Amino acid sequence: MGPVTAVGIEVDGTGLEVPEGTSLLSAALAAGVELPALCSDDRLSPAGSCRTCLVRAGGRVVAACVTPVSPGVRVETATADLDALRRDAVELIASALPPRALADGNPGELARICRSMGIAPETARGAGGRGGDDSHPYVRLDRDLCIACGRCVRMCSEVQGTFALTLVGRGGDTVVAPGTGGPWAESDCVACGGCVDTCPTGAITQPGPARGLTSGIRPAAAPTRTTCGYCGVGCALDVVVREGGIAAVLPARDGPVNHGHACVKGRFSHGFRTSPERLTRPLLRRGGVLEPVGWDEALAHTARALRAAVDAGGPDAVAAISSARATNEDNYLIQKFMRVVLGTNNVDNCSRLCHSPSAAGLTASFGLAGGTDSFDDVQRADCLLVVGANPVEAHPVVGARLLNRVLHGAALIVADPRTVGLARHADVHLRPRPGTNVALFHGLAHILLAEGLTDEEFLRERATGLPELTALLAGYPPERVAELTGVPAADLVAAARRYGRAERPAIVYGLGVTEHLHGTDGVRALANLAILRGAVGSDRGYGVNPLRGQNNVQGASDMGALPDVLPGYGKVTDPAVRARAQDVWGIRVPERPGLRIPDMFTAARAGDLRALWVIGEDVRATDPDTNRVTRALDTCPFVVCNELFLSETARHADAVLPAASWLEKDGTFVNFDRRFQRVRPAVPPPGGTRTDFDIVRALAAAMGTDLGCATPAEALAECGRLAPVFAGLSHDRLDREGAVPWPCPDPGRPGEAKLYTERFATPDGRARLAAVPYLPPGEEPDDDYPLLLVTGRRWAHYNSGSMTRRGGNLALDPVDFLDVHPDDAGRYGVRDGVPVAVESRHGRAGLVARVSEQTAPGQVFCSFHFPASGVNRLTSHHADTVTSCPEYKVTAVRLAMP
Ligand code: SF4
Repeated sequence: MGPVTAVGIEVDGTGLEVPEGTSLLSAALAAGVELPALCSDDRLSPAGSCRTCLVRAGGRVVAACVTPVSPGVRVETATADLDALRRDAVELIASALPPRALADGNPGELARICRSMGIAPETARGAGGRGGDDSHPYVRLDRDLCIACGRCVRMCSEVQGTFALTLVGRGGDTVVAPGTGGPWAESDCVACGGCVDTCPTGAITQPGPARGLTSGIRPAAAPTRTTCGYCGVGCALDVVVREGGIAAVLPARDGPVNHGHACVKGRFSHGFRTSPERLTRPLLRRGGVLEPVGWDEALAHTARALRAAVDAGGPDAVAAISSARATNEDNYLIQKFMRVVLGTNNVDNCSRLCHSPSAAGLTASFGLAGGTDSFDDVQRADCLLVVGANPVEAHPVVGARLLNRVLHGAALIVADPRTVGLARHADVHLRPRPGTNVALFHGLAHILLAEGLTDEEFLRERATGLPELTALLAGYPPERVAELTGVPAADLVAAARRYGRAERPAIVYGLGVTEHLHGTDGVRALANLAILRGAVGSDRGYGVNPLRGQNNVQGASDMGALPDVLPGYGKVTDPAVRARAQDVWGIRVPERPGLRIPDMFTAARAGDLRALWVIGEDVRATDPDTNRVTRALDTCPFVVCNELFLSETARHADAVLPAASWLEKDGTFVNFDRRFQRVRPAVPPPGGTRTDFDIVRALAAAMGTDLGCATPAEALAECGRLAPVFAGLSHDRLDREGAVPWPCPDPGRPGEAKLYTERFATPDGRARLAAVPYLPPGEEPDDDYPLLLVTGRRWAHYNSGSMTRRGGNLALDPVDFLDVHPDDAGRYGVRDGVPVAVESRHGRAGLVARVSEQTAPGQVFCSFHFPASGVNRLTSHHADTVTSCPEYKVTAVRLAMP
C-alpha cells in the first residue's frame, strides 16, 4: 500500500487537511462539527440512506457520509437551510416511532440527536404494534423502534461476517429480522453484540441493566478499561459498573486488536461472577470432606503441607501448575515462589497442552517463542493460509477480521479436516486426515520448490538448511502426499500456487497444528513454507502466527511459568541466566529443569510428588486421559487449588483457596500477537476471595519469605530487570500507550510488532529450514475403534466452561455435541439430537449426536466444555515428542449405546 495523500479542504470557512478518501462526515468531525448521521457508524461502510447528514459541498447538497472529499472542496454545514433539511429528515424518522423512542432519559442516539435539535418528545407519535422478539438471552428486538437504517445488518455482515440479519417488509414497515425467519434465538446469530452496539434507537438492546448502553454512549461514571479474560485475541473492553455490579461490558472503539468489536464471551459472559456457586471461603479437607475455614487457617495449613512435602522429598517433591488465565504478574510471582521459596523449577502452565510446540518450533526456526508479525500486518496480506484453526468460533474477533479481509479480496487457503467457518469462504480447502500435517506441509513445500516459487535470494542470504530440506522433500511429491493425507494432489498444487504466487502471504495457525504427537515438527514444517517464500522477517509477507488459546497463555510462558526457562525464556541451565536471576532475587536458582505437567502427574502416581498446587486450571476436565489425572491427584498427599468454583479438580483437592476473576484483578495480559495490555479491576473481588497475586504473597509470608513485589506494577518492573526483552514495559507506560508488543527492551522506544526485519534471533541470525520426516500419529483407527476423534472449542463456551456455563451462554449451547458425518450416522445407527456414548482405548464419554457434514466421513468432533460428558476420559497420553503437548487431535474411538 502506498502512502496516503492529504487533501486540503475547507469546512465552514476553516481550512484543514484530511487523508484522501475521507468522507465529508469525517472531515466535518475533524473540523469540530458533529452532524447527525443515523445510518452511519465508523466501523461500517457508508449507506447514505437516512439523509440526516446533509451538507453543501461545492454548491451541491449531498449526504456527507457517502461523499468523499475532493481537493479544495468548500463544505458548508451550518446554514439555516441545511439545518432545516437535517431537522426535517430526523423529525420524519422520529415521527413514525412510538413515544417511548424519545422519552425523557432515553440514552439512544436518535433521542440524543432529537434533544440536541430541539425536536420535542411529542414528535414521536407512531402507533407501534409491530411486536418484538425476546427469545435470545442477550438480545432483545423491539420492532416498533426500528428505523431500518441497516446498521445492525451491516455490522453483522461487514464486521462480524455472520450475515444473520436482514431487512424485511416494505416502505415504512421495513424492519430488521433474523435471516432464517424464525425467533432470534434459533437464528445464525453468534451474539457478538455488534447489532446491540450500533443500533441508534434502542430497537436492538441487551436486556437487564445493560439496556440502552452502547460503546457510542459515554455513561456518567467512566467505565473501566480492561482486557478480555477469555481467549488470546486480547479485546479491549469497557466495563460499566452501576450500584457495585457490572451493568455492561462494551467493546472499546479504540481497542488495538478488536476496534470496537467483541464476541459472546467477552461481551456478555460475566454472569459467572455473581453465581451462587462462586467460592467465597477457603476449604480444607477434614475427614474426607471439604469444610469452610478462615484464610489464616487455610494459609497456615497449606504452608505446613508444602513444608512437610519438601522435608519428606526435597524441593522437587512439590510442583505448581500456573494459570494461563491469570495475569502476567500472578504468573511471575508463582514461578518466583516455586524457585525462591521452595527451590524447585517444578512449575508449568497450560501452554504445555496447547502451544508449547509453537514456542519450541518457532524458537528453533526463527529464534523467539512468539508469532512473527503483528495482526495488523497480517490484515494486509493478499493470501491467508489458515491452518488447524477455527477462529470464527475459538477466536471470534480474529475470525471476523480475517473473513473481512477475504471479503475484500485476499485469497484464502484453509487447511483443516473439518469444514470450519472460514472454509466456507476458502479458495482452496485442504482436508488432511488428522495427524498428517507434516506430510501436508512437505507436500506444499515440494511444489514451491518444484515450480520455482521460492525466494532464492532470501534463502541464500537469510536461511540455512536448504540442501537437507530439498533432499527430504524429494520424497513428498503431490501423489504420495495425497495418499498420506487424503488431500487430492490437484488441491495441493492449487494451494501451493496461491501461497507461492502471492505478494504478501501470511500463515495463521492453531491447535490443529500443535496438539499432535509431532506437533513441534508440524510447526517447523509450516514455518518452512514462509522461509521458502521469503515471507517472514521481510516486506514480502507476514510470517507465521499462532492463535493463542487462553487469554494469557503467551504471557504465562513469557513470565517463566515453565520448568526449563526463567522470565524472558532464559534457560535455567544457562549459568549467565541464573546469575542474573540471583542478582535480582538474591538466591541461587536451581539449574535442573523441573517437571512438565504430564510428568507431574506421572510423578504423583509414582509417589514421588508429595504436593501439587493447581492455580486456575481444571485439569480433571481439560487434561487428557482423565482417569490417569484423577489417580495422580488422589495419590498425591497434598493438592491445593486456587479456584473460582468447586471444579472437578478442586473436588479432589485437600485445600481450595477462593480466587478473584479477571474482572476483579490488576495486572497485564499478553495477547496472541505479543501485545502487553492492562487488566484493571472493574469491581472488587467478592468478600472472602483474594487475588492470586495476594494469595501467593500471603502463602510465601506464611512460609517465612517476603516475596517483595508489593503490587502487580512492582512485579512487572522486577520482571523487566530479570528479562531484558521486557525491560521497556511498565504499568505506567501501558496506561499511557494502551498496548505495547515485546520484545521491548527500552522504555523510550516502541516494542517490536514485526520481528526479524534485520536478522533472525538464532545464533547465526538466519532462519532455519527443518528437514523433519513425516511420522504417523500415536493412534490410528482399526476394526475396534474405527473413527478418529478430534476435540476443540465451540463459539459459546470456553475450555471447561466453568465461567461460560454459568450464565446465558448455557442457553445458547447447552451440551457437548458429537458431530458425526451422515454416512457414519447411517452406518452406526446414530440419530441427530440423541445421546450417544463414545469409547476409546482409554475411557468412555457421553455426548449428544449432531449429524453434520462439518466432519469428514470416518471422523467425529466434539468440544470439552461440560466436564460431566467426560470427553477427556477418551483422549490418550500420547504427546508431542519434543514438548509433551498432548495429542488431543487424534484419538481412535467407536460409538456405543449410551
Ligand atoms: Fe474475548 Fe476473545 Fe471474544 Fe475478544 S474474541 S471478546 S478476547 S473471547
